[in-house]
Amino acid sequence: MEKIKMTTPLVEMDGDEMTRIIWRMIKDELLCPFIDLKTEYYDLGLVERERTKDKVTLDAAYANQRLGVSVKCATITPNKQRVEEYNLTEMWKSPNGTIRAILDGTVFRAPILIDSIRPAVRNWKKPITIARHAYGDVYKATEYRVEGEGKAELVYTDKEGKETFRKTVYDFECPGVLQGQYNKDSSIRSFAHSCFKFAIESKQDLWFSTKDTISKQYDQTFKLIFKEIYDECYKEEFEKLGITYFYTLIDDAVARVIRSEGGYIWACKNYDGDVMSDMVSTAFGSLAMMTSVLVSPDGKFEYEAAHGTVTRHYYRYLKGEETSTNPMATIYAWSGALRKRAELDSLSDLAAFADHLEAACIETLNDGIMTKDLVGLVEPGFKATAVNTMEFIKQIRARLEKKLA
Ligand code: NAP
Ligand code: MG
Repeated sequence: MEKIKMTTPLVEMDGDEMTRIIWRMIKDELLCPFIDLKTEYYDLGLVERERTKDKVTLDAAYANQRLGVSVKCATITPNKQRVEEYNLTEMWKSPNGTIRAILDGTVFRAPILIDSIRPAVRNWKKPITIARHAYGDVYKATEYRVEGEGKAELVYTDKEGKETFRKTVYDFECPGVLQGQYNKDSSIRSFAHSCFKFAIESKQDLWFSTKDTISKQYDQTFKLIFKEIYDECYKEEFEKLGITYFYTLIDDAVARVIRSEGGYIWACKNYDGDVMSDMVSTAFGSLAMMTSVLVSPDGKFEYEAAHGTVTRHYYRYLKGEETSTNPMATIYAWSGALRKRAELDSLSDLAAFADHLEAACIETLNDGIMTKDLVGLVEPGFKATAVNTMEFIKQIRARLEKKLA
């Protein structure tokens, strides 16, 4: 069989530990035998980040900007223990944080659903994609522990040094706490553009929620910016595609999400997104089945799995023990990136390959062949046999070959 051609390379960002092992298996078994795989390779493994003083992460992010689409393996974010383990000269920053900052992007997380594993919320039938605005608010707040009586004020001084705003926050008669939060129009705008773009890209409705009835300046600003950008830039395209933009209060959104069937994107402010993404992903079943894509406001894409490097499995692998790590989200990172590349370069064979690859994965799971993490989640009445990672990938390959033949 002739291999499927690519024109523009994908940016390939390799990573760490168990996911680095799986990365290799996926390429060897599921991609390279069928595609003339073209990638611009960046090794974001911790050893190479240390060797290049993290320059490789920046290079990879700029390559993503230049070429448009990347696929990333999970990477270690160093902490104190990792600094010792890898003999690091510095506690290098999270590669995901660095890439997100350079692309000014928003992360969209969506679960992969299969028939035999039903969400904890019984009426959910389609994925719910969460978009979290990962900038500002409580994560960049200034806090103060008030120890006794005194006055707390909110003061704004403009560039010329003129005080333009002063208001009492609270006249403390006893000890208490104080917090100052901010956000920037530019960041909210980028967030909004990424959300509308991804809704169009994935042809799903977009929900956005804040608490603007209580927060009449802060949250209201988010609501107004979204509305303005929607009306100006995306309304027409949404109507053409038959998708909707829907704004509602956060508490109303929560109630509607629980009662819904799923099948939409839910954009959340930073804190809401932090909490709700954990709630939604847990209710859907497994972190190992959660995909993630970073979308920039100017339409650049970075695909990855939502989970980490699965360290515990890696140490078992190093001892020569058999591991049953789930490669689904990492495979979907590849299929997502290849499909996007196919769309941008008008390569119908490559697009079809991405569809076949995902279908082969789902078929394998529907046949009851799965990794250990999933076996315990399967509904009564469905069959499930646990296999190791390599066997699982080989089973996918067998089904993929049939589809491609
Ligand atoms: P993790 O790698 O996501 O793993 C946590 C646990 O979840 C695992 O021990 C495993 O549970 C289960 N799990 C996750 N993915 C799985 C899969 N594909 N198949 C089967 N089970 C899976 O999180 P972590 O242990 O907190 O973090 C490990 C490293 O990953 C850290 O160095 C962290 O910095 C990094 N990390 C990177 C990213 C990223 O690059 N995007 C994201 C998060 C964390 P059992 O052990 O019970 O089987
Ligand atoms: Mg969280």
